[in-house]
Amino acid sequence: MAEQGPLRFAFDSPAIRVRFGAGCVRELPAELDALGFARLLLITTPGRARDVRAMRALLGPRLAETFAQALPHVPAELVRRALEVTAAARPDACLVFGGGSAVGLGKAVARETGLPLVAVPTTYAGSEMTSIWGISDEGGKRTGRDARALPRLVLYDAELTLDLPPAISAASGMNAMAHAVEAMYAAGAGPEVVILAEDAIRRLRDALPRIIREPRNVDARDQALAGAHLAGRSLEKAVMGLHHKLCHVLGGSFGLPHAETHAALLPYVVAFNAAAAPEAMARIAAALGAPDAVTALLSLSQSIGTARPLAELGLTAEQVPRAAALACAGSYPNPRAVTEPDVAALLERARTGAAP
Ligand code: NAD
Repeated sequence: MAEQGPLRFAFDSPAIRVRFGAGCVRELPAELDALGFARLLLITTPGRARDVRAMRALLGPRLAETFAQALPHVPAELVRRALEVTAAARPDACLVFGGGSAVGLGKAVARETGLPLVAVPTTYAGSEMTSIWGISDEGGKRTGRDARALPRLVLYDAELTLDLPPAISAASGMNAMAHAVEAMYAAGAGPEVVILAEDAIRRLRDALPRIIREPRNVDARDQALAGAHLAGRSLEKAVMGLHHKLCHVLGGSFGLPHAETHAALLPYVVAFNAAAAPEAMARIAAALGAPDAVTALLSLSQSIGTARPLAELGLTAEQVPRAAALACAGSYPNPRAVTEPDVAALLERARTGAAP
């Protein structure tokens, strides 16, 4: 842990109630009552009509309005429309149900309105455990941290994730894996972060191949959700490096799909950083149950079908220099110094699917 100099860290720990367990969503009405939330705005992604019906049946008159139009990267125009619906519905809390897209839109509404957030996450993005928000417009994607974006209550129920398609499960699980991996070598991350991240890596490594084989296995889904929860906690308590910066640039400015990009890029950034963070790499490898972090991540990714050239996800050779320049703009901590030529070379290897 001491490889980046003397141990120094700081974090806040705001109140957040977490319920975890298959079937626990049935306790949602009681949990809402305990917090005094009587009028909810439900935010989710399109195509979840069956879940919305189930939520309506569960919540009864507590459900004031539904906004089922959440999209990835929280487009500013969508936030404007969601705020209009919020103003008309006059809820006393905002309930987000689904993946990072639903949670992200809820965070934007919570920041603008001060409404408390309740989250029922059904992917492995981990956003429900963070105060990190994002909004995108023509100029790209802006992100920041704001305590108002952190949910007050989170319920993890694996039964709600049994129909999450295996391909989305795999990519989303590798998105969580990336939080935990970057947390392991993050500057200023304390000992708690390492414990969270190690356990997240171990659980995701175990669960994701099992989910591909048996998508409706509740134990595998439980383990993946627990891994995502821990990975989200480690993301909240650490400052991310080059990998998250690159994914932010590729998604926000070039429209690449979020979770798939995280999954495809991770072995390349870990290879880039490996020599500069040997102790973290040893811990990552140990958590993956293998001698080498890069090889283990690549082989996990290949086994679950997420090892794809970035070209397949939409990155062209012409876009690489600008992506590298954007990724090197601004300052953020990373074990190895980032330069435009080095990052462009990394991106080109990942784009063509060459060895990391
Ligand atoms: P997503 O929320 O877009 O979900 C992917 C797809 O899966 C959607 O079509 C959704 O409807 C569907 N889906 C979700 N749950 C399902 C279920 N249980 N059954 C069937 N279908 C289901 O994708 P995501 O990868 O979860 O989130 C991506 C977004 O999250 C990005 O915008 C990213 O920036 C953001 N994010 C934010 C943070 C943070 O801390 N702020 C962390 C990670 C990701």
